[in-house]
Amino acid sequence: MNNSNGAFSWEEGPINDNEKVCRKCLTGRPLAAFSKQSRSPDGHQLECKICNKLRHDLRREEINRHYREVYYPANREWLLTNQKANRKRADKPWPKRSPEQKERRKLTDAYRRLAAAERNLVKIKEKIRDLEGTQQRKTNESYTSK
Ligand SMILES: [Zn+2]
Repeated sequence: MNNSNGAFSWEEGPINDNEKVCRKCLTGRPLAAFSKQSRSPDGHQLECKICNKLRHDLRREEINRHYREVYYPANREWLLTNQKANRKRADKPWPKRSPEQKERRKLTDAYRRLAAAERNLVKIKEKIRDLEGTQQRKTNESYTSK
């Protein structure tokens, strides 16, 4: 991940297939240190898990503080008087689904399972590619570097 000047270069990319450079802390880490993300080209997020957690923690902290210091004081009266009503609403059961809604739900679930199966297939294909050995990889590398 470091070029001859010792500086990081995005064009160069990670040094091997099992390593990736975190966009946030610019540290090379094993792929396992990145959360999975099927949309991304290498199947992993740009930020490492550590940076990701830090960002979420900071965001959560920010939201909590905003609620405590801004939202709650500004809406105190309304929140207190509506607490009872809000609780009552939460106790209400969900409205019953119509047969059409049930059918649509079944279809959505089927599509979701199909998408999951396809993702699984991609993973299996990747594993097979990994297992195909270094010879194959070397030919690919010399091909892409041209
Ligand atoms: Zn990071």
